[in-house]
Amino acid sequence: MSADPASALRFACNCGELGGEITAKGVSSGTHVVCFCPDCRAGQLYFGQPDPAPGPVDIFQMSPEYIRITKGAENLAVMRLGPKGLFRWYAKCCNAPVATTTSSMKFPFAGFDVARFSDLSPLGPVKTRAHVPQANGKWKHENVAPAVLGMIRRVIAARLSGRWKQTPFFDVVTGDPVVAPHVISLEERKALYD
Ligand SMILES: [Zn+2]
Ligand SMILES: [Zn+2]
Repeated sequence: MSADPASALRFACNCGELGGEITAKGVSSGTHVVCFCPDCRAGQLYFGQPDPAPGPVDIFQMSPEYIRITKGAENLAVMRLGPKGLFRWYAKCCNAPVATTTSSMKFPFAGFDVARFSDLSPLGPVKTRAHVPQANGKWKHENVAPAVLGMIRRVIAARLSGRWKQTPFFDVVTGDPVVAPHVISLEERKALYD
């Protein structure tokens, strides 16, 4: 936990129709990571973003309670790579990926797409490198502790305080996502993992 006074960080989709901010608390309590996993890459490819391979996808892990959509929330949509996949939220105005969440608001976690920020300096250095490919064809996490401990700490804080109910992604009464997820077809999915 940084003691530095952080300020809120603005984000926007590529076309600017959807925008908002991560609160100062969200910035100071999040964890900057990168992930090399095929699902993160598939999410980028599905939305027509530049292929990150062989590099990773840059993610800011945080609590959804600190995400404020202040403009164009009607453009928020959600995709899943499979029937049990994570919720991949995006701005349907321009297909810009916004954040990945679990499918239950009771496990409050968001992996925010760093490409939505114009200023990366408040995020600090990358702490964890996930699913890093190895020479033997396998992968491993590098310095996974900050990501795991950060997530546990944030989820517990959000649950105990009741702030998990402050989310732009779910209807807190029903527990349903604010828009119905689109599960992509097996054919579409296959094309993203070549
Ligand atoms: Zn990943
Ligand atoms: Zn847009």
